[in-house]
Amino acid sequence: MPELPEVETIKRGLGKAILGKKITAVCVHNPKIIREPAVEKFKKGLTGARIKNILRKAKVLILELSNGKSLVIHLKMTGQLVYPGNGKASRASFRLSDGKTLDFNDQRLFAELRLLNDWHSLKFIQGLGPEPFNISPAQFKNMLAKKKTRIKPLLMDQSFISGIGNLYAAEALFRAKIHPERPALSLSEKEKELLFEEIKDTLNEAIQHKGSSLDQYVQLSGRPGDYVKYHKVYDRKGKACLVCKTPIKRTALGGRGTYFCPKCQK
Ligand SMILES: [Zn+2]
Repeated sequence: MPELPEVETIKRGLGKAILGKKITAVCVHNPKIIREPAVEKFKKGLTGARIKNILRKAKVLILELSNGKSLVIHLKMTGQLVYPGNGKASRASFRLSDGKTLDFNDQRLFAELRLLNDWHSLKFIQGLGPEPFNISPAQFKNMLAKKKTRIKPLLMDQSFISGIGNLYAAEALFRAKIHPERPALSLSEKEKELLFEEIKDTLNEAIQHKGSSLDQYVQLSGRPGDYVKYHKVYDRKGKACLVCKTPIKRTALGGRGTYFCPKCQK
């Protein structure tokens, strides 16, 4: 699933490619992805509107329009935005004033598109915890205090801290040498500080490399992001740890595959 770096990469791509352009026509090929309003109202509300602003909240994209409405896009597992699109695999296409098309693809149909009068009132967005880039080390340390939850599922809890998923939680914990099953409150002050730094560094490096193309993620151009080759533990089960050569382990934690080095991560 695209996490903060992937969605940020798409957001930056959209900013360069479609900001200020007008949506001249909307085609919905599979109505399952449109959560609200009804498809006809969705199309009508978008047609003729100009894209005024492009925002990202955690893993969600928000396109603010000139008519006061906003298109809220949650890519979920396999959602893709591609520009210029060719319409071949699209679930919805947005024709723009430059004559080109923005395609929305989604192989597994878990994505959610909404056209809203006020995106701030969306429950999902109201329930998001702060992003790592919007808090201080002291705030992060305070947030972890008294939390008995194991550290990796806690980092993936979007109401606790938002934008981090399975992949970047595993990478940041490896870099901070912290075992994913440790209760959050057992981390020393030093470990908490290091973890916070590694979370931000990992996310920033992934953004620089345009995200990790696992599953279906692509940049707006349709090209993959190349951060996968920099992964230290994720999806490396049985391969040698890059630090100590111990084989990387995979366990299930909170229902998710969790990769870690049993020697480096304490
Ligand atoms: Zn190791």
